[in-house]
Amino acid sequence: MEHSEYLEKRNGLVAEAFEASDQPMMVIDPGGNIVLASDGAGVLLGVARADLVGVELKQFFLRPETLDQCREAWHSGTSENRTLEIINSQGKVRAVDARCLPFQAEPLVATKEEDEYKSHGLLLLTDILSQQLEDEKRMMRLAKLSLLNQVSEALYGAHLTLDQILQAVLICITSGQGLGFNRAFLLLIDEGSLTLQGELAIGPSDAEEASRIWLDLADKQVDLFEMMTSYDQSIKTTDTAVNSIVRNMKISLDDSENLLIKSMVNRKVLHITKDVVRPGVDTIRQWLGAQEFALAPLMTRRGPLGVIVADNAISHADIGSLDLEFLHLFANQSAGAIENNRLYFELEKRLIDLRKAHEQQKEDQATLLRMERLSVMGETSAIVAHELRNPLVAIGGFARTLVRSLGKDDPNREFARIISDEVGRMERIIHDLLDFIRPRKQLRKSVVLDELVQETITGFQVEFSDQRIDVKLDLQSTETALNANPGEIQQVLQNFLVNAMQMMKGGGTLEIQTRVLEGGIKVSVLDSGPGFAQEFSEKLFSPFFSTKTTGSGLGLTICSQIIKSHGGVIGAENRDISGAEFFFILPLPK
Ligand code: ADP
Repeated sequence: MEHSEYLEKRNGLVAEAFEASDQPMMVIDPGGNIVLASDGAGVLLGVARADLVGVELKQFFLRPETLDQCREAWHSGTSENRTLEIINSQGKVRAVDARCLPFQAEPLVATKEEDEYKSHGLLLLTDILSQQLEDEKRMMRLAKLSLLNQVSEALYGAHLTLDQILQAVLICITSGQGLGFNRAFLLLIDEGSLTLQGELAIGPSDAEEASRIWLDLADKQVDLFEMMTSYDQSIKTTDTAVNSIVRNMKISLDDSENLLIKSMVNRKVLHITKDVVRPGVDTIRQWLGAQEFALAPLMTRRGPLGVIVADNAISHADIGSLDLEFLHLFANQSAGAIENNRLYFELEKRLIDLRKAHEQQKEDQATLLRMERLSVMGETSAIVAHELRNPLVAIGGFARTLVRSLGKDDPNREFARIISDEVGRMERIIHDLLDFIRPRKQLRKSVVLDELVQETITGFQVEFSDQRIDVKLDLQSTETALNANPGEIQQVLQNFLVNAMQMMKGGGTLEIQTRVLEGGIKVSVLDSGPGFAQEFSEKLFSPFFSTKTTGSGLGLTICSQIIKSHGGVIGAENRDISGAEFFFILPLPK
């Protein structure tokens, strides 16, 4: 390529770039006429760029001397900024920042005389007003970005419940300091029903309510954080129009063509303007009662969580690109916080389960050890008891014969009686012990407890009258039957009765009650004895606990074993008046 050809091409490109620039700039010839103008200059002066060529610059200056000042500046080569007032083709006056520079016009601009092109000038203008607007926008953007950042950090940092986080997210989307949408709706994926379901919404019902809320907020001067954290009443339960809208929102996840489902699949923020026609749009418009809205999917690394739908149905303000950009940003942050919160609570739950399992395991191990020990002890006791029984019977027999054969005044008769009594006691212990370690037979049949109580009492009539014991029966379980081993239940009753009698030396009142409770029958034996010392209440049913000189301390333990093997409950408490109540509850068949 020839050098001149190259220069021509290069200058052509430079001129094109000059003309296409948004920055208002013009090349002015020494006579003050415009020889080249950029697109930006055309917009500023209200004239098409091409029509500016050849036009006198002077007509756009409010003050005629301005042109001379400009010329002076480019001749002297001082390139400082000065503020000028220009008047555009519509007669509007604007303040601009101007820089005037000398400009080598050749051969960018065709000129005839050599010295003429040297005295061309370049005028660079900046619209102060639009610059200010741009600056303000940038500042606002920055402020919002920093606020959103802080909000996101707050969402991550605080130990909020899921509901509180969702609420905070919606507040941030709708508050003026946040994204400033009128209303926001949150839909979350429900794994159970495989649907996308409306969960929570926020926003005024109508313009009147909106202005009331907005004025109220302006009055209170609350900041976003305060608003988010002081929202004590769940917005879910308030009866507002947005809540009834959000409750209706439900879409099957299979509806893959639906706009909401697609936005999650494509991970895209969508701006639905009045004229958009897409599957599912009409349903959403019907739900919202608004034509225009924006939606943003809540995405996490594990997949989508749901969608946020936001609109300006009250103020009808346009949804701008900045609004969408922020919605996108904030939706991503919120999704992260929601996911984080879910994971946190899942982890906490697992930890609790794990702890419980660990405790259970420890308990099981201890029970197993105890059972092993008891089983060894049981076997040993059975052997020892068997081995002792026969010699004891023999000793007892001899002792009783000895008592009978010794004369009343014989000092050895008292010793023989003591031996006989003590052997009798040992025999009872061995009898109870063998009963205690004997495996219980699961012989169950239908039993009416009132009848069983009557039968048991009959066997004690002689002893009751001998010991001056007054018996009161209050049997109210009527015909209610349950499954039990009647012999064993009778054994429990007998034990209660014998104990009660032993506690009422010199007579008293014995009361037996039966009651039908929810799911079981309660049988109580109440005496008018002294009751038991409170510190013994835990031990009464433990093996070998006895306060009697002749007791084995196994009676109540056997009772407890019998009742528990029936799936029942056994217990004792002191009565308000003097005496004790021993009771058991047996379950009714399900
Ligand atoms: P034993 O009768 O051989 O002592 P039990 O297991 O039947 O064994 O009773 C254990 C203890 O429970 C008794 O020694 C006594 O202290 C207490 N006890 C049982 N029944 C009553 C009652 N009706 N009033 C007060 N204490 C009682």
